[in-house]
Amino acid sequence: MLNVAEIRKDFPILGRQVHGQPLVYLDNAATSQTPQQVIDVIVDYYSRYNANIHRGVHSLSQEATDAYEKARITIQKHFNIQHSHEVIMTSGTTHGINMVASGFTSFLNPGDEIWVSAMEHHSNIVPWQMLCERTGAELRVIPMNTTGELVLQPFYEELSERTQLVFCNHISNALGTINPIEEIIEAAHEVGAAVLIDGAQAAPHIKADLQALDVDFYTISAHKICGPTGVGALYGKTEWLEKLPPYQGGGEMIAEVSFEKTTYAGLPHKFEAGTPNICGGIAFGAALDYLNAIGMDRIAAYETELLQYATSELLKINGLRIYGEGTNKTSVISFNLEGIHPYDVGTLLDQMGIAVRTGHHCAQPIMDFYQIPGTVRASFAFYNTLSEVDRLVEGVKKAAQMLS
Ligand SMILES: *Cc1c(COP(=O)(O)O)cnc(C)c1O
Repeated sequence: MLNVAEIRKDFPILGRQVHGQPLVYLDNAATSQTPQQVIDVIVDYYSRYNANIHRGVHSLSQEATDAYEKARITIQKHFNIQHSHEVIMTSGTTHGINMVASGFTSFLNPGDEIWVSAMEHHSNIVPWQMLCERTGAELRVIPMNTTGELVLQPFYEELSERTQLVFCNHISNALGTINPIEEIIEAAHEVGAAVLIDGAQAAPHIKADLQALDVDFYTISAHKICGPTGVGALYGKTEWLEKLPPYQGGGEMIAEVSFEKTTYAGLPHKFEAGTPNICGGIAFGAALDYLNAIGMDRIAAYETELLQYATSELLKINGLRIYGEGTNKTSVISFNLEGIHPYDVGTLLDQMGIAVRTGHHCAQPIMDFYQIPGTVRASFAFYNTLSEVDRLVEGVKKAAQMLS
């Protein structure tokens, strides 16, 4: 079991009030909170060894380089990645996806197919649409059902040698569904297609073993796992990273530059043009250390407990419908009260000090599928408590009374 009372002491923000009430932070799927241990790493960096990396002979630069490269190794180990050069530091999931989408431009031809799932984040739809526009490839969609689970049969039937790329999120940020990515990866590989899995929402809950998954690309954002915003990582298999052209030109990513010709640096630097988010990268590593000290399995088990309790309590409320009722899901609950706009529920909850997300959660196609303008989304982290779930349920009941 987790000692949640102790864990909460690590998060200074959880002690604050909003509108005169103790904060109940249930917007973890949008961004997670930062423990003091990670805040300390950030302060320490700027207080003691702020310097540019990979280029200075002076001590500060070497200390910063060592800390940054140590973070890369932490990421490598956490996700069981074979080589540290397969970890590309990015500004986040969106950046990683765009890097791959851009890199595939010269590999695709008219008639080729790219498949995405029906429950993607916009960051996993728009770059592929742009790639299709550039190349004449066609975008196809793996459909979903009303339970909020993918329907794989049509995808299996229509996969062919025309299929070049398949993209799917590991866990849907809007519904909480854990997708059967093992099966999707296997099926895609049978026709020779590459697979990118968006792990942004899975990383807080599941320690993915990327070698066992045999996935080609996997993206994550540090801010969803108790790290800072604006930093993340893209995993790519060596063979793909060697084939793909660099995404941006600039310093850091070159070997030799003259006006006649430039040769690119080796992996991972080929994809890391310019000065990176050095402090953020170091803090990203510290965030993974923090989670691993608690234990990802214990985190997942506790979050499942929160999910089950919140689901059963919320469903007792008249007229409340939950979207995303798959058997395999994480601690994200998207819901609506019959006849009431989600925005109004979210606004009233905020007055009570409860932070939830309302709207389409960057996944408009899912909202179109259910024919709703959006949902109220409560998403739980390991530092949330059962009594915070009670406050949410009380708050939703009160909102239902006031708005009906
Ligand atoms: C948060 C999220 C993203 C986008 O992450 P950024 O850090 O904004 O780039 C993409 N996909 C999913 C599933 C997410 O939850």
